[in-house]
Amino acid sequence: METTDKTDIRTLDKKKLLEFFESQGEPSFRASQVWKWLWTDHATTFGEMTNLSKSLREVLDEHFVIHRAEIFNTQKSNDGTIKSVFRLHDGAQIEAVLIPVPRDRRFTLCVSCQVGCSLACSFCATGKMKRVRNLHAGEILDQFFEVNKQSLEIYGHPLTNIVYMGMGEPLLNYREVILSINYITDPDGINMSPRRITVSTAGISKMIRKMADDEVRFNLALSLHAANDEKRDEIMAINEQNDLNSLMAALQYFYDKTGNRISYEYIAFQNFNDGPEDAKQLVELCSSFPVGVNIIEYNPVEGIDFIKSDEDRLDKFAGILANNGVRVTVRRSRGKDIDAACGQLANKN
Ligand code: SF4
Repeated sequence: METTDKTDIRTLDKKKLLEFFESQGEPSFRASQVWKWLWTDHATTFGEMTNLSKSLREVLDEHFVIHRAEIFNTQKSNDGTIKSVFRLHDGAQIEAVLIPVPRDRRFTLCVSCQVGCSLACSFCATGKMKRVRNLHAGEILDQFFEVNKQSLEIYGHPLTNIVYMGMGEPLLNYREVILSINYITDPDGINMSPRRITVSTAGISKMIRKMADDEVRFNLALSLHAANDEKRDEIMAINEQNDLNSLMAALQYFYDKTGNRISYEYIAFQNFNDGPEDAKQLVELCSSFPVGVNIIEYNPVEGIDFIKSDEDRLDKFAGILANNGVRVTVRRSRGKDIDAACGQLANKN
């Protein structure tokens, strides 16, 4: 574990970086050069910044540090999914997952945005960890750069999509999540289209409205998992302050303001939320704005009692949605054998 009092240079915004160079009597373009090294070229040391003089690199070294998130363990699933455990400078650990679908040329990164999570959804391994801290944008970007490298090395293809569905609730680390997306979509940098990025929330109405007001351009996924308040309260404590009425109103507001794609994530639990009545209630929740439903197979988490829906119940449930005009996809889970599937991150760490 690294111990230093120096500031991590990647926590400085452009204005602060500029002020630093001014205070050193350096021209303002130095700030742009260093900015590019940090956020586009993923420099990990000041020594790599070869268009700066040696003395200026030494000045940077005296004042700052670059705290990198580094991979210290990877596991590859039989289905090609790769889970990487990252160690942060303070010894905390997070996980990121590469989900390849070579036939569709789709290589998706599932990224973490917090160490642990405060929301304690009852079916989730991360929720059992408690929240330790937020990641800063640089630590989110490290996951992108490292997993992109893996994707290129192993599959010969860069990442095509990102989902903020790893450890943590993105809307409780809003500033850093938005910053990281700005860097990833910057036309002068990585330049990924925001349409290929999905932020997934457990459902915080106020923040969904804020995203609409901020006119974000990425897709939004709501982890719904139950179609009435009674059941949702049972598995997601966040629903007590953000009931379905308030969430639906916030999503309508989001859709009206941005027109961005919205989807529901719905983990099917046997005999809990997978009956015909649940399906009908879910159809109702799909009636006000365009929304697709992703039904996700549940993955076992040690110490949690839910079991996954059997094929027959799952088919009937999906059938009711489809027959009522809902766009529905049933997603078989990926990476189950390495605890990389939805809700399993941090399962064994
Ligand atoms: S499902 Fe998401 S929001 Fe809920 S505890 Fe797990 S990581 Fe947190």
